[in-house]
Amino acid sequence: MIRAVPAVAAMTGYALADLGDSKAISLAQNESAFPPSPKALAAGQKALADSALYPDPDWHELRAILAETYPVNAETILCGAGSMELIGCLIRAFAGPGDAVAGTQYGYLFAATATQQSGAAYVKAPEPDLSVCIDAVLKSVTEATRIVFVCNPGNPTGTRIPNDELLRLRASLPENVLLVIDQAYGEFDDQNHAPVFDLVHAGDTVVTRSLSKAYGLAGARVGWGAFPAAIGAEVRKLLNPNNVSAASQAMACAALRDQGYMRDVVAQTAARRDGLRDRLRAAGFDVPPSATNFLLIRFASEAKAKAADAELRAGGLMLRGMGGYGLPDCLRASVGSEEAMSRLGDILEKTA
Ligand SMILES: *Cc1c(COP(=O)(O)O)cnc(C)c1O
Repeated sequence: MIRAVPAVAAMTGYALADLGDSKAISLAQNESAFPPSPKALAAGQKALADSALYPDPDWHELRAILAETYPVNAETILCGAGSMELIGCLIRAFAGPGDAVAGTQYGYLFAATATQQSGAAYVKAPEPDLSVCIDAVLKSVTEATRIVFVCNPGNPTGTRIPNDELLRLRASLPENVLLVIDQAYGEFDDQNHAPVFDLVHAGDTVVTRSLSKAYGLAGARVGWGAFPAAIGAEVRKLLNPNNVSAASQAMACAALRDQGYMRDVVAQTAARRDGLRDRLRAAGFDVPPSATNFLLIRFASEAKAKAADAELRAGGLMLRGMGGYGLPDCLRASVGSEEAMSRLGDILEKTA
């Protein structure tokens, strides 16, 4: 019999959303409710003319624009086919059989999948009140821990970790433990991010970001991260060469240059999110505060969540079930069109 290596044979693949009926509106994957900037679309179209050529393998222009836009140095940046590529390569580069990766109870499941790929053990610190507890994370760290992975703001909780707590986490971790801070929703969090990006310079922290959420480029697959030089050099060995297509790099550059468009998308998304949150709370649902483009909705029981999911699907709306995160009494709703938000509110008010 032809066998895969043990770590792969033992794992289950990463579970994407069950998109079932394709006629329904998907609010299941935290995609943007808005199209990408028209400037990004025009730049992508123009770049397609050069599709006979390989893209820039070092993402020069993209890194330069990122360094103008965020408090990071261009030399620290690596770009990936989505930040998932970077997170996967990072975990595989720094954890292996016998090692542990410390995540959190409701942390991003892809970190657990990437840890399984590496053969290391994934350990989850409890998240009381659906938010990351830094003391619990610190308690979960052992001699075997090589990486601590936190998502800020969190998915699927939507809650955020205050900067001073993140700084305290780093200061309290042993220096041979790599801290990875996944900020895929960072543009929706109005904290000053400079102190967190500054952690990269000490050599033991990585911050990852994505163009998939606030910039509306999930289909282009562009993520980036700020890496200490020695960490980035190892991750680079595992990335696929030429990993981000020329059209995607062009779209990302143009989208980053159009900060006004992104800010407007973020503001409109937050307004719809908070409108729906207020409506659901008034109807009696438990909805944690969200610093992202989605809401986590908690029902009185798993049965009520299942029944509501069925009602929503019948009404043409697809949310994300949260059983995989150990939250079977919750559904997660991405912010969609105003029409979708009001239909969602109407259906859930009736099931409350
Ligand atoms: C969406 C998301 C990502 C980004 O994935 P991409 O590969 O950049 O599309 C990363 N982390 C979390 C927590 C996410 O929700």
